[in-house]
Amino acid sequence: MTWFNIQNIRKFVMLWLIICFTGSINLFAQARPDTNELHHFRLLAFGTYIEVMISGGSKKRAHQARNLVSQKFKAMHHQWHSTHDSAVSRLNRLLPSNTWVALPPVVRELLIRSKEISILSQHKFNPAIGKLVNIWGFNNALKPRSKPPLASTIDTHTRQQARMSDVQIQGGRIRSTNPAVQLDFGAIAKGYAIDQVVRLLQKQGFKNLIINAGGDLKAIGRRPGRAWRIAVRDPSKQSRVIAGIKIINEEAVFTSGDYERYFIHKGTRYHHIIDPATGYPAQHTRSVTIIHKNATLADAAATALFIAGPKNWADTAKKMGIRYVMLIDNKGIIHLSRAMQNRIQLLGKKRQRTQVRELNSQHSR
Ligand code: AMP
Ligand code: MG
Repeated sequence: MTWFNIQNIRKFVMLWLIICFTGSINLFAQARPDTNELHHFRLLAFGTYIEVMISGGSKKRAHQARNLVSQKFKAMHHQWHSTHDSAVSRLNRLLPSNTWVALPPVVRELLIRSKEISILSQHKFNPAIGKLVNIWGFNNALKPRSKPPLASTIDTHTRQQARMSDVQIQGGRIRSTNPAVQLDFGAIAKGYAIDQVVRLLQKQGFKNLIINAGGDLKAIGRRPGRAWRIAVRDPSKQSRVIAGIKIINEEAVFTSGDYERYFIHKGTRYHHIIDPATGYPAQHTRSVTIIHKNATLADAAATALFIAGPKNWADTAKKMGIRYVMLIDNKGIIHLSRAMQNRIQLLGKKRQRTQVRELNSQHSR
């Protein structure tokens, strides 16, 4: 999971861009119990600023929502972090023992869902590679790396082939048949958390809102008078907006990009999305944006399709039941699924460098 660092300041700037893009909001207007009111608040969790906008209802209701959202996000971040003392890191210490151990209830559903999605992605999304993620050090804000780990270290870890299919769950117990398995939910936790929080707010009667965690977001309903509109950043210049997307009813939009956490060594960019097959940061892709009703799946799929790359993304998308995809490759070519092409509004000259693929899958939503 991300930590608060310089990258997050960039994200924060971008967030404001996104908010501006969603319309001219007078944030400083006096709140009235007006159904057209747009309430806005911000908190820090999952190493990023989380922006919430609620359309309609009273200021008091928005305040209740704020408390709920804040509590829920902070608790989840605390439970799932893999590098600090958390339910996940305690579990990671027990997993190499190859014996059945207690599965903390706060991790259970996230783990089961991660396992299902990992298998669908053919292990491209693979939260069992926590060891590899650790040696690359992108999640360690206190000790950032400036050069890659030794090739022999990477090879040793990669050959151990840690996978979610090595993890067995039986009632309240868990064990790993592969001692190399270490869990890292950095590629899915934010999406899962957003789904949880949106569901909670829906249960409380909120119908029109958006939760935006550093550009990854889920929206339901509408903003006053019109649909929510989302901006997608340009991976080659994050302060620039590359495309706009209009949200329909309930949708999440998630992007994985090579600009989020990286270092440059001898002219090569090493970033935080690791191809489990090679042990190195996935090549050929700059960013992947996914739209899906389910934020958990959108988050994991953005990571998986990033690894699949410009040649294989369509196949992985079909296997994962994903219909809306935009992948920008390292040559600047924009690969779109047909459904995404019909949804996305590309800005500037970007339209000229697109390749569109039909994704005919019965399972795609
Ligand atoms: P995202 O930005 O959602 O693509 O997630 C990237 C984060 O997920 C990284 O910082 C790692 O913590 C973790 N990660 C990196 N590579 C993978 C992978 N292949 N499968 C699952 N998680 C990964
Ligand atoms: Mg992800």
